[in-house]
Amino acid sequence: MRKKILAANWKMNLTQPEVKAWLHTYQTLDWSALNASLRVYPSAIYLQDIQRAGLHCGAQNVYFEASGAYTGELSIEQLQSVGVQSVLIGHSERRLLFKEDDTLVAQKVSACARAAFPFILCCGEAQDIREAGTHLANVLAQLSENLRLLSSADLHLLVVAYEPIWAIGSGLSADLDQITEMQQAIRNHLVELFGSAGHQVPILYGGSVNAANAEAIFSCPNVDGALVGGASLDPLVFHQLWKALQA
Ligand code: PEP
Repeated sequence: MRKKILAANWKMNLTQPEVKAWLHTYQTLDWSALNASLRVYPSAIYLQDIQRAGLHCGAQNVYFEASGAYTGELSIEQLQSVGVQSVLIGHSERRLLFKEDDTLVAQKVSACARAAFPFILCCGEAQDIREAGTHLANVLAQLSENLRLLSSADLHLLVVAYEPIWAIGSGLSADLDQITEMQQAIRNHLVELFGSAGHQVPILYGGSVNAANAEAIFSCPNVDGALVGGASLDPLVFHQLWKALQA
């Protein structure tokens, strides 16, 4: 049975006092669960605060080289040396705002595989692609390209997050039919690429998940949890999503 995952992507939000307040509220709530894991992807300066609080701490980004003259970047080895447990790769904000292309994303995937470092690979289509009706082909091509250097032996490191770009931060989640169609297509594609091991890869949905829509989204086939931006910034709201995941 695939493990469920609820992951908070804080993006470039929260000051250190706000992180402390988040963690203080977090400690007062009941996060117990069967077969589900909670992850937080904060700004890198707070990774150790998250780790010390006993949470799964993940980085929002990583560079594929091991060390050297790459000002402003972090390597997998550096992240691992302070106890970081996983990383987001290929978030649409990195692809669009920081011009990360499929080649760079594939290099990051390959670096994670070499270092046995777990990662969440984000994929998703833009609004115009959805309107043109080519969203399935577009997302599956992203996956083929981004995962081309990953072997079946390293598949246990992979979590996929389907995040339609038009749904991220817009308040407009994909509807249940759209989510079901894409999550099934991604599952089939993983099985095509990696054989039956593809059934074991968790597939998350991301894009305006909130307390009102979470339970319905989590009931869709092949939705193994969510990657959550805005609704993760308030621990009380995030806790409601956690409860919805167990429902
Ligand atoms: C995200 O950035 O990964 C995301 C899903 O954001 P939001 O939940 O705010 O749409």
